[in-house]
Amino acid sequence: MSFTVAIIGRPNVGKSTLFNRLIGRKLAIVHDMPGVTRDRRSAPASLLGLEFEVIDTAGLEVSGPETLEGRMRQQTERALAEADVALFLIDGRAGLTPMDEHFAQLLRRQKTPVILVANKCEGKAGDQGMYESYGLGLGDPIPLSAEHGLGLGDLLAALLPYSKELPYDEDDEFGFTPEPEEIPDIDEGDEVVIPPPPDRPLHVAIVGRPNTGKSTLVNCLLGEDRMLTGPEAGVTRDSITVKYEWRGRPIKIVDTAGIRRRSRVEESLEKLSVADTLNSIRMAEVVVLMLDANMVLDKQDLTIARLVLEEGRALVIAVNKWDAAIDRAESLQRLGDRLQTSLPQVRGIPTVTLSALRNQGVDDLMEAVFEIHSLWNARVPTSRLNRWLDEMITRHPPPLSKQKRRIKLRYMTQVKARPPTFAIFVSKPDELPESYMRYLVNGLRDVFGLDGVPLRIHLRKPK
Ligand code: GDP
Ligand code: GDP
Repeated sequence: MSFTVAIIGRPNVGKSTLFNRLIGRKLAIVHDMPGVTRDRRSAPASLLGLEFEVIDTAGLEVSGPETLEGRMRQQTERALAEADVALFLIDGRAGLTPMDEHFAQLLRRQKTPVILVANKCEGKAGDQGMYESYGLGLGDPIPLSAEHGLGLGDLLAALLPYSKELPYDEDDEFGFTPEPEEIPDIDEGDEVVIPPPPDRPLHVAIVGRPNTGKSTLVNCLLGEDRMLTGPEAGVTRDSITVKYEWRGRPIKIVDTAGIRRRSRVEESLEKLSVADTLNSIRMAEVVVLMLDANMVLDKQDLTIARLVLEEGRALVIAVNKWDAAIDRAESLQRLGDRLQTSLPQVRGIPTVTLSALRNQGVDDLMEAVFEIHSLWNARVPTSRLNRWLDEMITRHPPPLSKQKRRIKLRYMTQVKARPPTFAIFVSKPDELPESYMRYLVNGLRDVFGLDGVPLRIHLRKPK
């Protein structure tokens, strides 16, 4: 679940200082822990809510049989072998030394990913060393002051891609389990049942390419500038999940746009957006995919949309910057066409045009979010489903099996909601063609009004 971060670098760059800052008050425990060696300590750490294990390689100066350099190399290699990612510290004030170069060489030749950190960068005194360190061939440095706790937001952004989870409050009173909910057989009534909205907040993720206006939308929804602005301001849990109410309905926005924007390291920017987007999607019930009206739906957008649907989340497409759209009719037409050809499995994905900047269409977007969320929770009574199935079969009988007997669809029931998931008992589950499945899915959408939500159908063989 957690991941491991090694802190490496020559003596005196601030490794212990950073280690202590990351492990917070747990330091005492570390000292008391049996078997903790003096030259390599590890402890649970937390950075603005992100939890991981940290390994410190400081304290190598103590004398021993080997040369300092030999021992340092050995410790570093051992720490690297255990870590998912390493923070390579240099001293921005002192500038690069031959020993830093030596370390860099070792780091370039091994496999563990390395994040270059220029420490002691409070004020301007660290700038020189920071600029020099670009030359190490280890990517752009992250300026930090371990002692003063500056630059932690950038460090968080750089580490996020290596975490398996976003910082997230598991004990949240409104805890949301992304797992589909098991539902009992519903046998009463004839109508599709939409359960009343729960009291807990609806989890929404806003995803999309950089610059489409995600932060602007969040700011607009919150009605104040609460996203990241200053160098340190707001890089807290709150910038990752924000709770607020829309027309009295609680919402929790899982947002990563702000953090993404703070990342200065191009390489990790790339990695971040994918890992991060996936994490946001997994924590959401409804995902808003943000597009720019003048750059509608490219390959990356489609990849995100597919991820959302594969994860079984409800999707709303938000076409932003509508105020600045050049050819409105054409962009909508093109968007519709591409959605139909590229995502045929989910017909009728809700699409809303808006201007986050001018606060136009934002309410329409939220309405669409709540509406698709209801459908995502919909339950169809079993008796109604089976009557429907009979009609479908009568209208279009399933094909013959390999043994020349007609494939029989015997019984159908909804086993789960979030998203609606059905089981059909079939004589030859493996032989029912894809085209027949599509016929059933489209029929379900038409008759029960399930447009725009991902649907699952499991075929099972009766016992
Ligand atoms: P290590 O040998 O790499 O573990 O380095 P230490 O953590 O022991 O730090 C070495 C020295 O640098 C100590 O005097 C620290 O107080 C100082 N130091 C650590 N971080 C910073 C920082 O961010 N800014 C400044 N100015 N000094 C720092
Ligand atoms: P993010 O990277 O997706 O979070 O995008 P931002 O919210 O930072 O917005 C990127 C740029 O697009 C900023 O300059 C915004 O002012 C601008 N922008 C956002 N929404 C709109 C909009 O509805 N209309 C126009 N014309 N510009 C917008």
